[in-house]
Amino acid sequence: MNFSSLGLSEQLVRATSDQGYETPSPIQAQAIPAVLSGKDVMAAAQTGTGKTAGFTLPLLQRLGEKPRTGKGPRALILAPTRELAAQVHDSVNLYSKYIPTKAAVVFGGVKINPQMMKLRKGLDVLVATPGRLMDLYQQNAVRFDEVEILVLDEADRMLDMGFIRDIRKILALLPAKRQNLLFSATFSNEIRTLAEGLLDNPVQVEVAARNTTAEKVKQSVYPVDQSQKTALLSKLVRDNDWEQVLVFTRTKHGANRLTQKLERDGITAAAIHGNKSQGARTRALSEFKQGDIRVLVATDIAARGLDIKQLPQVVNFELPNVPEDYVHRIGRTGRAGESGHALSLVSADEGKLLAGIEKLIKKQLPRKSVEGFEPTNNLPLKPKAKADPSKARGRNGNGGGQGRPGGKPRSAGAKPGGRSGGRSQNGGGQRARSGQRQSA
Ligand code: AMP
Repeated sequence: MNFSSLGLSEQLVRATSDQGYETPSPIQAQAIPAVLSGKDVMAAAQTGTGKTAGFTLPLLQRLGEKPRTGKGPRALILAPTRELAAQVHDSVNLYSKYIPTKAAVVFGGVKINPQMMKLRKGLDVLVATPGRLMDLYQQNAVRFDEVEILVLDEADRMLDMGFIRDIRKILALLPAKRQNLLFSATFSNEIRTLAEGLLDNPVQVEVAARNTTAEKVKQSVYPVDQSQKTALLSKLVRDNDWEQVLVFTRTKHGANRLTQKLERDGITAAAIHGNKSQGARTRALSEFKQGDIRVLVATDIAARGLDIKQLPQVVNFELPNVPEDYVHRIGRTGRAGESGHALSLVSADEGKLLAGIEKLIKKQLPRKSVEGFEPTNNLPLKPKAKADPSKARGRNGNGGGQGRPGGKPRSAGAKPGGRSGGRSQNGGGQRARSGQRQSA
């Protein structure tokens, strides 16, 4: 199978070969013909599966079928974070290099005026975070009456971040006749309700198990006392000569503290999270990509959508409160066919979180140790039968209430009590309740 056999035009196929793509990924093989057919699509897919090209390529082809008559936008792509929006916009530009389509991206945290100017010039594809898009709408900078195609990318994360009200407002403003594409890594009740109201007889697309990406990732656990984690991380970075490692912390403050400590240890590091300005985040990411800094410390939401090619190493400095986030985190490595390593520094108080993760990915992760860093408080070697991860999942962790009405697509991520949960009992530092916007 190749891209042209999926029905894509020669210009679009050429753009994919320029990117070095030889064969469509499984999600692309399913989504591209479905989108080209003009039907609504509901896809269970996460970052790393090639989903962006899966909706962008056919969307561009459909727009190319007739020219723009007004100022547009004709396709609206909503994404949860600035970084993801910027990356989707980059993809739209890459794939449309041989066609005359114009695209722009708008997100919060930067000046609104230049975005207004861009919109005034007219465009085909607009990639946006929901909050900024509503702000622009309220200032009469954008109209939606020409929208033919709507994409909700990472819909689950948009809901987690409290964007549902903005999304509903935007939906109410769109022309009734349009094509809708919904991409989500998990399918909670909230997503299903949104999908039911939005999609008309959708083609359902799903790729194999949610942890296919993870299978290419070698994973291990280092049981260690909380107080020793920074020293152990420094040692691992040095001893293994890691030149590019993405480290996850649970909180923004934790990310800052760890960055400072690493810098003090002589390891170049930068933090990326929602309290940083957009400029600082972009700078940190590009320095990391260029190899100017060795360690990028990120919170879950800030890291969502980061696509750093051939990232060899991911470290969980702390385990996430929500087991599915573990899969998202380690999906930063081993992308698009490459192999990677993910290791987790786990202290005894995180035993339950680890048990929840191992239950989700259906395997026990190998434990490793480093001399001098053996924990004084041991982790249980096997997940305790009693450990119930649903308890760490917060308000939707109702352990079974979230079935699969209507037999809709279900990746392993569409499990009952899935990542839809808001706060967990551990505080859930990063997540906001629905109805509140949250910066990424
Ligand atoms: P995404 O899931 O959209 O974030 O894409 C993940 C990564 O896979 C990106 O770096 C894409 O450039 C890359 N990619 C997308 N489609 C393909 C393909 N068919 N072959 C190889 N790499 C791809």
